[in-house]
Amino acid sequence: MEKYDVAIIGAGPIGLACAIEFKKAGLNYLIIEKGCLVNSLYHYPMNMTFFSTSERLEIGDVPFISSNPKPTRVEALEYYRRVCSSWDLNVRLYEEVKEAKKSNEGFSIVTTKGKYSSRAVILALGFYDLPYLLNVPGENLPKVKHYYDEPHPYYLQKIAVIGAANSAVDVALETWRKGAEVTMIIREGEIRDSVKYWVKPDIENRIKEGSIKAYFNSTVTRITETQIEIKTTEGNKTLDNDFVMAMTGYQPPFEFMENIGIQFQNDEFHTPVYNEQTMETNVPKLYLAGVVCGGLKTNKWFIENSRDHAKLIVKNLVSSIN
Ligand SMILES: Cc1cc2nc3c(=O)[nH]c(=O)nc-3n(C[C@H](O)[C@H](O)[C@H](O)COP(=O)(O)OP(=O)(O)OC[C@H]3O[C@@H](n4cnc5c(N)ncnc54)[C@H](O)[C@@H]3O)c2cc1C
Repeated sequence: MEKYDVAIIGAGPIGLACAIEFKKAGLNYLIIEKGCLVNSLYHYPMNMTFFSTSERLEIGDVPFISSNPKPTRVEALEYYRRVCSSWDLNVRLYEEVKEAKKSNEGFSIVTTKGKYSSRAVILALGFYDLPYLLNVPGENLPKVKHYYDEPHPYYLQKIAVIGAANSAVDVALETWRKGAEVTMIIREGEIRDSVKYWVKPDIENRIKEGSIKAYFNSTVTRITETQIEIKTTEGNKTLDNDFVMAMTGYQPPFEFMENIGIQFQNDEFHTPVYNEQTMETNVPKLYLAGVVCGGLKTNKWFIENSRDHAKLIVKNLVSSIN
């Protein structure tokens, strides 16, 4: 069994930031990632542009040069590959951690490819793997998507976009501009205030002029091969439909976290218990980093404001394991 000072689970931007700090501190570390490098970013919409300017996404003192102030997904993939190779990080890709257990000596970790032991574990798991389900009949049809990639497949198609936050708005605008007939089904009474300030007037005006149809205070109740049924304030309606884009958000892997012993606060966000000064959880030498720290409040932490978690962890870890 391979032994490490610290195992990092997840090679997202924050897992990589942690690895860089551990390398600087001379710790023997390993990053284990179930998909490709920065797997979540890879699965973001193909044409997406970050809301942050590139210098705010930098880690490990590697400059992030992009053609425009806000980088694209493709530029970010290039950047994090460059970070990984310039720091020569020790990362295992396409290896999922199935179980991590605390023992007297530290942690034992079982993956799809092997077993490891480590004195400390960092969970940098993100939140992008488990979509919120609509829980309506027909949700398992292939035409229902919880992830959006690009607009071309939806040209000349009738699509229903569920949700009123950034992802839903981006999907509605992009597919409409590329020739889809778009209807938004929105549970709330308006487009969310959290939508990017330069995008919100665009969607509101498209709805006002009728280019994009929107049903507010409405929910989907059933999906069939050719239609969707919705409940609106004016009663139930049936709409012709080719695709459903359920942009209803995602949640962290709570079961995985519970299994390793993490406790949760009794709040609406199911926030994990950890010390904000050290990032250590209720399990000694088990740390959280990145967006996973927010529980269901998945917009609390992002790359910009959680890249510093790595420095907090290394400070605490070096003093406790040396
Ligand atoms: C469309 C979109 C646009 C965004 N734009 C911005 C922006 O402009 N600026 C900004 O700061 N933030 C932005 N964010 C948020 C930002 O991308 C996330 O906050 C960021 O990815 C968090 O990094 P992370 O390393 O914590 O998690 P992630 O990047 O999600 O990485 C977690 C990693 O853990 C891996 N993993 C999970 N479980 C296991 C397991 N059991 N075994 C092995 N590996 C596992 C996953 O595959 C993943 O690679 C955006 C998010 C979205 C969805």
